[in-house]
Amino acid sequence: MATNKETPSAENPEKLLNLKSTGPKKWAAGIPAVVAALSDVIEEGIPFRGTGALFVMNQKGGFDCSSCAWPDPDDDRSPVGEYCENGAKALAEEATTKKVTADFFAQNSIVDLANLTDFEIGKKGRLTEPMYLPEEGTHYQPISWDDAFTKIAQHLNALESPDEAIFYTSGRTSNETSFLYQLFAKEFGTNNMPDCSNMCHESSGTALRPTIGIGKGTVTLNDFYDTDLVVIIGHNPGTNAPRMMSALEKGKKNGAKIIAINPLPEAGLMAFRNPQEIKGILGTGAQLADLYLPVKINGDMALLKAFEMLLLEAERTSPGKVLDNEFIAGNTVGYSEFIKQFNNYELDELAIAAGLPSADIRLAADMLANNKRIIFCWGMGLTQQPNGVEMIREIVNICLMKGSIGKPGAGVCPVRGHSNVQGNRTMMIDEKPTQKQLDRLKEVFGFEPPREHGYDVVNAIKAMHAGKAKVFFGMGGNFLSATPDTTYTAEALRQLRLSVHVSIKLNRSHLVHGKEALILPTLSRSDKDMVNGELQFISTENSMGVVQSSKGILKPVSDQLINETHIVCRMAMATLGSRSVVDWSRYMNCYDDIRDIIEKCIPGFENYNMRVRQKSGFYLPNGARDGKFITDKFGDKAPFTITKLPVNTLADDEYMMASTRTHDQFNTTIYGLEDRYRGIKNERRVVFMNQKDMDNAGYTEGEKVDLFNYDDGIERVARLFVVVSYPIPERNTVTYFPETNVLLSINNVVGESNMPAAKFIRIKIKKHQSLV
Ligand code: SF4
Repeated sequence: MATNKETPSAENPEKLLNLKSTGPKKWAAGIPAVVAALSDVIEEGIPFRGTGALFVMNQKGGFDCSSCAWPDPDDDRSPVGEYCENGAKALAEEATTKKVTADFFAQNSIVDLANLTDFEIGKKGRLTEPMYLPEEGTHYQPISWDDAFTKIAQHLNALESPDEAIFYTSGRTSNETSFLYQLFAKEFGTNNMPDCSNMCHESSGTALRPTIGIGKGTVTLNDFYDTDLVVIIGHNPGTNAPRMMSALEKGKKNGAKIIAINPLPEAGLMAFRNPQEIKGILGTGAQLADLYLPVKINGDMALLKAFEMLLLEAERTSPGKVLDNEFIAGNTVGYSEFIKQFNNYELDELAIAAGLPSADIRLAADMLANNKRIIFCWGMGLTQQPNGVEMIREIVNICLMKGSIGKPGAGVCPVRGHSNVQGNRTMMIDEKPTQKQLDRLKEVFGFEPPREHGYDVVNAIKAMHAGKAKVFFGMGGNFLSATPDTTYTAEALRQLRLSVHVSIKLNRSHLVHGKEALILPTLSRSDKDMVNGELQFISTENSMGVVQSSKGILKPVSDQLINETHIVCRMAMATLGSRSVVDWSRYMNCYDDIRDIIEKCIPGFENYNMRVRQKSGFYLPNGARDGKFITDKFGDKAPFTITKLPVNTLADDEYMMASTRTHDQFNTTIYGLEDRYRGIKNERRVVFMNQKDMDNAGYTEGEKVDLFNYDDGIERVARLFVVVSYPIPERNTVTYFPETNVLLSINNVVGESNMPAAKFIRIKIKKHQSLV
C-alpha cells in the first residue's frame, strides 16, 4: 500500500480524457460567457444563493470578487451585474453548499485523495472544521480550534530561530488580516513572508520602483476611456481580467487604437461581444486589436528595442513631432546615454529576434509615434520571462520618450492577478520590508522588528528543502500547485515538522504535507462575517490602487468557520503570550481598530475608517500618476535604463515552452476541463505546437508525447500529453499549469525579482512511453 510519502501525484496520470480541439476562437464573451457563468452556479446546486450573491458582487457596499484585481467603475455600476464569467465561476466555487466534513476525511485517506485530479479535489466542497494529521497518520482527523492553536504555538516556540518559520500569503487575504499577519511574523521575529506576488508581478514592482518611484501601475480605469493607444503585451484579458474588455471597448468607442503582442492569438485580444449589450449578444461585437503581433517567446525585448529605435528615427525625420523632448529634459535622466545603444542595432536583426516581419513592427512603431496618450498593459507573459524586469524597464523607457506617463490617458498598467495581491504588499506582506516601514512599526508598537530580509517563494522552497525551515504556515493559496519544480517542492514540504493551511476548500497542498499538518477552514469573501453579533466588512486594494470595503452576504456553510483575522490573533496570542506588546484581543474583536492602527503605520490611509465607508472607497497616493517620479537614486527624475538583448538559442530537438492557464481556471483553482477560447474541450494535458514543428518531428494531431526538461543536469518529466496544432510561432510551445510546473527548475528564475520563469522553459518532446 502506498504511504503518504509516496503519495502519487495526479500530475502524471496514465490516462487521457476525450480531447476535442477546434482551434482558437475569434472573439470573447457573448452568450457563451453568460451560459458558462450561470451553469457553474447551477452545477454547484446554488441557483438562488449564487445568483442572489452575483447581484451584490463588486457593487458599492457589496463584496469584492475574490478572483482578479481588475477595478470597478468609480461612478455608477451596472444594475445588470458588475461581474464576468470568471467572477461568477469564482463565486460558484466558494458559495457552494457542498461540504467536506470530518466524516469525509475519515472515509478518504490522503493517498485516496491524492489520486484525484486537482479539478476533482476542488469539487469536493467547502471545508467545515479544523483538521489535524498526526505524524505517520493516513487520515486527517478533527481537532478543536484551541488545540490547533496550541499545536502551532508549540511548534513555533520550539524552533531554534524564528527564521525557521515561513509565513506565506495568497492574494485573497484582506488588508486587515494581512496587516496583522505581518505584524505577528515580525513580532515573532522573522521577515520570512513569501507571497503570491513573488510568482506573478514581483518583476513589475522591481522594475517600476527605481524608475518611476512606485512599484504599482499609474493609470486609473478612466484613463482607458481617455487614451489614444493601448499596447497589451503578454496578457490575455479574456481570461485573466475579463472586465478589462469592457474598458477596452469603451476606449475604442472614444477613438483609441489597440496593439496586441502575444505568441498566441488570444480571443480576448481580438474582439469582444459585450454580454450586457444587445449588439454584443446578437451582433459581431467590437473589434479590439487593430494590430496583432505574434511575437515569439522572449522576442518581446527585441520588439521593444525596435520600437525605441524607430521612434528615434521618426523623431529625426520630424523633430519635435514624435518624442516629448520637454518632458525628457524636465523629468528624466540618462537619455543621451540611453540613445547611444541604438547605433548597434539593425531593424532586420531585431525583427528576426522578435520573430516578426519588419513591416509589422514599423506599423506598430508608427502608431506609437503618431499618438501621445499611450497606456502599456502587461501580464505574466512578460513578468515570468528571465529578463521580465528589464523588459518592463524598456516599457518605461518608451513611456518616458513619449512623455506618456503621469498624465490623463497615459501610463503603465501591470494587470494584477489576484484580488488583493497589491493590497497585501501595501500592508507590508513583504520579505524585504524597508527600514522606514520597520522604523514606523517600532515607533507605533514598541518592539524591535527583524531587520534582515526574509525568504521569498523560491528561497522559502530551497530553505525547506535544505531543512533550514521547519514550519510552514499558508494563509490561503495552494502552495504546491502554484510553485515550480513540483517534485523538488514536494520533497521540501515533506521535510517540515508542521505544515498549516488556512483554506476554504480542499487542495493538493493539504495532501503533500509536513510530518504533522493542520487545515484551518475560514470564511470566504462572500460569507457573512459576524463578530460579536455584528456584521463586519473588510477592505482590499485593486490593481489601480483603489481601497474599497467588502461585505459578505451569504450564510457560512458551517458554524465552525472563523475569519482569517481571528486566526491570526489567536495564533499570535497562543504563540507569543505575555511576551507580546500587541493587544491582539482588541484587534480580534474590532476591524475598525485594525484600520485605525493601519492608518498610524502606513502612509496614504489617513481617515481610513471614514474613507473606506465611502461608496467607491478611495485612491491611494501615487506620485507617478501625478507626474512626480521620486526615486531613491535620482531624486525627482525618472531614469532611462539600458538593457541587454538576450541571445536565445535552442538545440535542434529543443522547444521553448510557456505555461499558461485555461479559461476554466483561476490560478490553481480548476473550474472545469474546457479552454473555450482556445477551442479545447475535455483535456488539460495538451501541448500546443506549430504545424511545421509537428511535421518536422513527425507528429500528427492527437499524438501522445512526454515532455522533458534537463536544467541543472536533472531530468524532469511531465508524462502523457496530447499534441494540438496551433497558430503559435515555430519552436514555441504552450501548456497548462500546474500540470507542467514539474518541468520548471527551481533555479530558472527572473533576474532581480527571483520569480519562477514559467514563460521560458526549455523542453524536449518525445513520443509517449507508457510506464504501465
Ligand atoms: S474582471 Fe476580475 S474582478 Fe471582475 S468579476 Fe471578473 S474575475 Fe472578478
